[in-house]
Amino acid sequence: MNHNHRRNAYAYRRRKSPLLNPVLRVLLAALALVLIVLLCIGMTSLMPEVAPLDASPSPDPNATPTPEPTPTPEPTITPTPAIYAPFGAQYGHGDSSLIPETPTPEPTAIPTPSPIPSPTQVPTATPIGYTALKKGAKGPSIVKMQESLIALGYLDGSADGDFGSGTQQAVIQFQAVNGLSADGIAGKQTLTLLFSDEALPASAAPEMDYLVLVNRENKLDKGYAPSDLVKIADVIPSSVLKVKYKGTKANRTATEALGRMLEAAIADGVSNWQVSSAYRKYSDQQALVDQSVAKYKKNNPDWSRERCLSATYQTVAPAGTSEHMTGLAFDITVPGVSFTGTEQQKWLHKHCSQYGFIVRFTKDKEKITGFLAESWHFRYVGVEAAQVMTANNWCLEEYIEKMGLNH
Ligand SMILES: [Zn+2]
Repeated sequence: MNHNHRRNAYAYRRRKSPLLNPVLRVLLAALALVLIVLLCIGMTSLMPEVAPLDASPSPDPNATPTPEPTPTPEPTITPTPAIYAPFGAQYGHGDSSLIPETPTPEPTAIPTPSPIPSPTQVPTATPIGYTALKKGAKGPSIVKMQESLIALGYLDGSADGDFGSGTQQAVIQFQAVNGLSADGIAGKQTLTLLFSDEALPASAAPEMDYLVLVNRENKLDKGYAPSDLVKIADVIPSSVLKVKYKGTKANRTATEALGRMLEAAIADGVSNWQVSSAYRKYSDQQALVDQSVAKYKKNNPDWSRERCLSATYQTVAPAGTSEHMTGLAFDITVPGVSFTGTEQQKWLHKHCSQYGFIVRFTKDKEKITGFLAESWHFRYVGVEAAQVMTANNWCLEEYIEKMGLNH
C-alpha cells in the first residue's frame, strides 16, 4: 500500500507537471521561438569576430603576410621620337610630361593564402624614342650635351649646338675617363651616364706619373732620374723570374705589378720568365746606340756613319727617347728562345692590361710610335689606362691625346 501510494503520488505529479498544461506549453513554445530568433540575430552580428577562418590574417607575426594585389600591367606608352627634344627631358630632368605616369594598381585581385611576390620596384618609365648623337649633328640636344661636357671639364668655350671635332674629342675623352667604349658617338649609354650623378669629371683622368710619354718627339734629358727604383731581384723571387743582368732595376710599383702578373701566368701553367732589360740610364742607351753603329760599320764597311746611325735608329732608340729611362718598361723574354710566338708571349699579350701593362710597340701603330713592333717590350701605365688603351686599341700616344693629357 505504501508502495502503491508512492507510485500514485508519482503518477499524480506526472499528471500535474506544468509541461502538460496546454497553456504553459504554448507560452514556452513561443518563448523558445523568440530565444532562437534572438540567438540568430546575435550570431550574425558577431560573425567576423567569431569566425576568423576565412577573414584577413590576424596580426600574428608568424602569419603569412597579406598578399598584395597583383598590379595591372602598365600600359605601353610609346613617346613620339623627339629628335630635337632637350636630352634632359628624355631623361626626366626636364619636361615631366614626357614621363608616363605609373597607374595605381587596382585592388581587384582576390587575396589567396599563397604569397604572391610583391613587386619591389616601381617600373621605371623609360622613354623609347632615341637618337644617338654624332659628329655633324646640330640642335638643342647638342647644346644640352655640350653644357654637361663643359660642366665636367671636357669641353672649353660655350655650347654652340654644333657637334664638331672639338665636341667629338670631348665625348671621346668623357667616354675614356668613364670606362666606356670611346667611339666619339654619344649613344644611349654615354648620354645616360653624362646626365647622371655618376659621371666622372675630366679631372678624374689618371695622373701622368705612370703615363710619361717618351718617344722621338718627347725626349728625356740627360739629367732625368726616375724615383723609386728597386732591384727587380729584391722584389720578385728567382723562382718566378730570372733577371738576365744582375742588379737590373725598375720602378717599384711597376716591378710589383710585374711580379703579380708573372705569378698569375705561372698559376695558369705558363712559366720560364726572364727580364732582359728594364731601367736604363741615358748613358746606357747611348752605349747601345754606339754598339749598334759599330756593328753596322763592321758588317758594311762602305756605309757612312750617318747610314749606320739611321739603320740603328730603326730598332734602337736614340739616347733620351727610350722609355727604359723611366724605369717603367721591361723587355720580357724566354731564356734562349725568340720570344715572338711563344706561349709566354701569347699569355702576356692577352693578360698584361689586367696588371697595368701595355704592349708598347705594335705593328699597326708603328707610324705613330715611331718604333718597329716589339712583342717583348712591356710598358707599365697603370691598370686603368692599360685597360682603356687595350679596349680601344690605342697606343700610348693616342691615349694621351684622346684623354687630353698632352696640354
Ligand atoms: Zn724595351
